[in-house]
Amino acid sequence: MTDRNIRKILIVGGGTAGWMAAAALSRYLPMGRTEITLIESDEIGTVGVGEATIPQIAVFNKMLGINEDEFVKATYATFKLGIEFQDWGRIGETYFHPFGEYGYDLEGIDFHQFWVRSKQSNDFHGLDEYSLNTKAAYAGKFIRLDAVNGGSVLSKMGYAFHFDAGKYASYLSEYAKKRGVRRLEGKVCSVTKRSTDGFLESVQLETGDVIDADLFIDCTGFKALLINGALGVGYEDWSHLLPMDRAVAIPCASVEFAKPYTISKAQSAGWTWKIPLQNRIGNGHVYSSKFMSKEMATQILEKELVGEALADPNHLRFQTGIREKFWEANCVSLGLSSGFLEPLESTSIHLIQSGISKLIALFPDRDFSPTDRDEYNRLLNVSYKHIRDFIILHYIATDRQDSPFWKEMQKIDPPSTLKQKMKLMQEKGRFFRYEDELFSVASWLAVMEGQGMGPQHYNPVADTLSDLNVKQSLENMRSLFTKTVAAMPTHQQFIDRYCKSA
Ligand code: FAD
Repeated sequence: MTDRNIRKILIVGGGTAGWMAAAALSRYLPMGRTEITLIESDEIGTVGVGEATIPQIAVFNKMLGINEDEFVKATYATFKLGIEFQDWGRIGETYFHPFGEYGYDLEGIDFHQFWVRSKQSNDFHGLDEYSLNTKAAYAGKFIRLDAVNGGSVLSKMGYAFHFDAGKYASYLSEYAKKRGVRRLEGKVCSVTKRSTDGFLESVQLETGDVIDADLFIDCTGFKALLINGALGVGYEDWSHLLPMDRAVAIPCASVEFAKPYTISKAQSAGWTWKIPLQNRIGNGHVYSSKFMSKEMATQILEKELVGEALADPNHLRFQTGIREKFWEANCVSLGLSSGFLEPLESTSIHLIQSGISKLIALFPDRDFSPTDRDEYNRLLNVSYKHIRDFIILHYIATDRQDSPFWKEMQKIDPPSTLKQKMKLMQEKGRFFRYEDELFSVASWLAVMEGQGMGPQHYNPVADTLSDLNVKQSLENMRSLFTKTVAAMPTHQQFIDRYCKSA
């Protein structure tokens, strides 16, 4: 049998996407047989944002065999237990989206069905009381399962990180280079395609050097140099569903110990973020240019800064949507070249990770089976759509009508699957995870309840237990979570002890 294995891989772009791909491929491919080259341009640089993550990132790091404390130190990271949403349902109201489940299921029935039932009693407690993450976050506490003996209740506590994305890329770059990835600095100025089948053949640098490969990975950010520039794959615009198209970011000095959560505050034409790292706070404002000027957006953000600004405002433009195909011919796009969803639920880095793991699962040979490619495109398309719908939910499950922007958001016609999911949750707290969709019932419940559209009734199966049994079970959960949080170290103590940056 002739060897049809991929021998050369070329990754163009060295942002978070490029280096995540280089690290993972160097970990999973036989490096003696496969050559991986990454080209990045110091002159062009990276997008320079992307600091908040979701718990799946820990799985990616583990897959690479990275020591978590070492990674936290190197990237000035803090731990993230969820996101606090301010002013989203109504001005003045706040809720927490935790990275973990609520309560415990009883007799195989979802916890939240009993919780909805308990709303009818005079001993009702809000959702936050049943979330270990929320209680720990608001108490400024953090602990990891491996730092305690036993502690099965802590397995309910999911966490992610806030980190310096540039430092994460450098960390992965060291990792990948040690495993044999070759890094080239330079600017790609042209791309050559094979005359026989239109597949990519090589790229040319401004220096005149030509680099060829069997498989190309486009990590060139919004430029999409290979997938769009060379292969002409178009972009499906979703701005009719998510009209935000600009952002401005300004890091500022920290003024207190880092909170173990992100803050997202709704504004008159978008929202602002606060992401606490060990050495600073990342701040940004995502907005719609139809309703707000660059100057006004910057002013609003400046008012939100709690410490001294550490850099000039970084203005960014984007268009919400996805590549019509993520994988075309012998080129796979990852990161911003493959699509963009605003960072409201910090999902972009996760989508890079998801693309990489699907690429590894469907890794091609030089025959490039259309079956593998089509499946990759189908899976990624579905992942993007699920996340898109969850983000839209935040804008439409709201009473806000206080600005032209919020009035316009009420006119959005949501995808039918989103409407169906909202109705199911609102009517009787029912939820079904479609395919391997990212967000679970806890996330949907957190947002819908938090924005004033929580379940009206419960599933009648929750009547199987007596009032007393439900009351006691819920009381036990609250008391267990309260005690568990009381025994945890503070977030700062945990960092100081295990993973403080130099
Ligand atoms: P980039 O960082 O833009 O990197 C592109 C690379 O391509 C660079 O190395 C560049 O030098 C190289 N390149 C381009 N053209 C050429 C050329 N001609 N020759 C050679 N090299 C070239 N994600 C999250 O998960 N969490 C967040 O909190 C979050 N916040 C965000 C906030 C905003 C406002 C935006 C816009 C994005 C945010 N993201 C977030 C998304 C996140 O920033 C990106 O997913 C991530 O940084 C990956 O970017 P990238 O590597 O695809 O592109």
